[in-house]
Amino acid sequence: MAAKKSTEPGTESAASLHLPVLLEEILDLLQVVPDEDYIDGTVGLGGHAEAILQRSSPEGRLIGIDRDRDTLKLAEDRLKDFGNRFIAQHGSYDQTPALLQARGWKQVQGMILDLGVSSYQLTHPERGFSFLKDSALDMRMDLEEEVTARELLNDLPETKLATIFWEYGEERFSRRIARAIEHSRQQAPIRTTGELCQIVSRAVPFSYKKGRIHPATRVFQALRIAVNRELDILQAFLKQSPDFIKVGGVLAVISFHSLEDRIVKNAFRSWKQHFQILTKKPLVASDAEVERNPRSRSAKLRAIRRLA
Ligand code: SAH
Repeated sequence: MAAKKSTEPGTESAASLHLPVLLEEILDLLQVVPDEDYIDGTVGLGGHAEAILQRSSPEGRLIGIDRDRDTLKLAEDRLKDFGNRFIAQHGSYDQTPALLQARGWKQVQGMILDLGVSSYQLTHPERGFSFLKDSALDMRMDLEEEVTARELLNDLPETKLATIFWEYGEERFSRRIARAIEHSRQQAPIRTTGELCQIVSRAVPFSYKKGRIHPATRVFQALRIAVNRELDILQAFLKQSPDFIKVGGVLAVISFHSLEDRIVKNAFRSWKQHFQILTKKPLVASDAEVERNPRSRSAKLRAIRRLA
C-alpha cells in the first residue's frame, strides 16, 4: 500500500515542494568558489542553497535565512548531508549584517535573494496564502509576527485597501473591490480566504472572471505583500551597501514584482562606484522553464559584483 502523503513539516521532501527558479542563471553569475562562504537570504526549501553548497565543497559554508520556521525545518532536512556547512537561521534577510556579526562572520563570497513565497507556502492551505482552498486569512510568513491578512482586511480604511490592491497587486478594479469589502465587513468581519474570494468575484465584471488568472489572484498577492511588509524589507536591506560581500563577490536578487525589480535596479545603480552591474537587463526564465515551473513566469534576476 502506498504511504499516506503527509503535509507535516519535516515529513515531506523539500526538493519536491518547490523548484528553484533561474538556477543555472544564478550559478553562472555567482561563479561559486570552493571553500568560500555564502548567504541565502530567503533559503526556502533549499534548492538554490543545495546547488551552492555542492559547488563550494569541501569546506564552504552557507547561512540560510528564512522568516518561516516550517520552511527552515524542511531546508535543514534537505541539506543535512552537508553537516555544519549549512547553518539555518530564522529571521529576516534585512537583518543580515547583524546576523553575520552575531556569528562572528566578517565577509562572504556571495549572497542570493529569491523573493516572495514558496510553492510550499502557497500549497499549504492553513497558511492562508491560497485562494484555491478555504482557510483562515493569515498570510504571515513568520508566524511570530502579529498582523494577519484578516486584520488588514477588516481594519484598514477602504481607501488604504484600494491603494494596496492597486500598488501591490496592479489590480485595475482596486476601488470596486475595496468598496465591496467595506460593504461586507460592515455586516460581519471577513474571516476566510473563501469569503474574500467570493467578495472579489462578485465585485469584478463578468468578463474579468473569464481571464487567464483567477480574479482574486492580484488581491491575494497585494495582501501578502502588505502583511509581510515585503517592499519595506527589501528597501531596508538595500538602503546600505552590502559591505559584507568580499571584493570579487556577487549579490544576486530574483524578484517577482515590477516594484521590487525597480527597487533592486535603483539600488544597484546607486552603488555603481563600488559594484559592477552584471545584468544590464534583468535575466528572465526561458520558455522551457516557464513551462516546467509557472512560478518562474514573472521572475527577474539582477546581480552585481563588488569591485573595491
Ligand atoms: N530559493 C528557495 C525558494 C525561496 S521562496 C529554494 O530554492 O527553495 C522564498 C522564501 O523567502 C520563502 O520561504 C519565504 O518564507 C522567504 N522570505 C520571504 N521574505 C523573507 C524575508 N524578509 N526574510 C527571510 N526570508 C523571507
